[in-house]
Amino acid sequence: MAKRIFQKPRGTKDIWGDDQKYFKYVRDIFENVAEEAGFLKIDTPAIEDTKLFVRGVGKETDIVSKEMYTFNRSGNSLTLRPEGTAPIVRAYLEDGMQSLPQPVSLYYFSNFFRYERPQAGRYREFWQFGLEVLGDKSPLVDANVIATASRIYKKLNIKDISIQVNSMGCPTCRPKYMKLLKKFYSGKVTKLCADCKKRYKTNPLRLLDCKNEKCLALQNEAPQIINNLCSACHDHFKTVLEYVDELDILYELNPKVVRGFDYYTGTVFEIWNASDGAQNSLGGGGRYDELIQTLGGPSIPAMGFGGGVERTIEEMKKEELNLDFPKNVNIFVAQLGSKARKKCFKLLNDLLDAGIGAEARFDKGGIGDQLKTASKLGVEYTLLIGQREAFDGTVIIKDMASGNQEVFPYEKVIKVISKRLNKNS
Ligand code: AMP
Repeated sequence: MAKRIFQKPRGTKDIWGDDQKYFKYVRDIFENVAEEAGFLKIDTPAIEDTKLFVRGVGKETDIVSKEMYTFNRSGNSLTLRPEGTAPIVRAYLEDGMQSLPQPVSLYYFSNFFRYERPQAGRYREFWQFGLEVLGDKSPLVDANVIATASRIYKKLNIKDISIQVNSMGCPTCRPKYMKLLKKFYSGKVTKLCADCKKRYKTNPLRLLDCKNEKCLALQNEAPQIINNLCSACHDHFKTVLEYVDELDILYELNPKVVRGFDYYTGTVFEIWNASDGAQNSLGGGGRYDELIQTLGGPSIPAMGFGGGVERTIEEMKKEELNLDFPKNVNIFVAQLGSKARKKCFKLLNDLLDAGIGAEARFDKGGIGDQLKTASKLGVEYTLLIGQREAFDGTVIIKDMASGNQEVFPYEKVIKVISKRLNKNS
């Protein structure tokens, strides 16, 4: 009987080869953009108290009601984090970040877990890069988070994006708007899809971003929150847009952007792939001025953004961006004979000690095989030591592009090679 090999759980993936290069590329650019704007990195645990998400994200949200990976240990209910904001608020309160100069600007690059139906661009474990600014209510913060998010995609050279902006109001104006919205839908529930029939009762705001054909037409006739904001929310949002205009960042006002979590208040935004629209948003964020209080802290305003790494990479591949992934290994060390093998082993380690990326294949005896491997790796130079060089204390440097070979004393090789590599880089 054939042995069964294990498979990864549905909706997860192994990240290796080119994907790992893309991941590093996105991560480096994101982290540079964030650090240059004064954000500090935070890593929180992958598991948290389940109640953090139930209370923070909202019991009736899709994430909490059906997508969490939850398990019990010694009487404690723990959940694999489905999102990044509630854990950061937990850390802000627990670790005493209120006593730091405000606002506190944090960024993360982490994996998240949601039990969703796997499909293109939707996984059960996925990665997000995120920004959070806690402790400042100024509209400038909203504009700055939108600008920083937009800069990430710009630096990644992604062209086909569109920024969708809306305001979701506050505890003063949202309840009044919700009444209007429910009134509008009250005689029309039978026309809605099965999910929206439930949403009408549990989470009516989400009626506005359902993608089902049946629900789309009604959405366009529904009252818009933007026309029902209180004066404080209206003025705040107007100022945010003025600041964003100041930076010549293009955006669209979109009353259907209502986000999926309960904690959002005021400014919200999503980054879409312009051709695909809302289907698979690249990222999203907004203000969450009530969340810190909801999670037991004082009333402290905050604003954040989270972008999906996989979807960003898929977009980069779709746009066929010409990426210049840095090459770490440019030297191959080849040997012929047992004495040479020992010398090559030393040479390889001398190169690595000197910070020069190098590889060898000590299981391959024939020089032809080793040179083939060197070409496959695409190195610029192969350093060869045969019986004779081992005896003489020399090394042959072979330029792989021209095929030229030169002999150098062992002691000089590192210097010569680093000079050549620096000249070529
Ligand atoms: P959210 O936390 O739901 O606001 O999502 C923010 C971004 O994370 C989305 O715009 C996606 O790019 C990404 N994202 C969310 N859920 C998934 C998922 N299940 N699989 C892959 N990416 C996701």
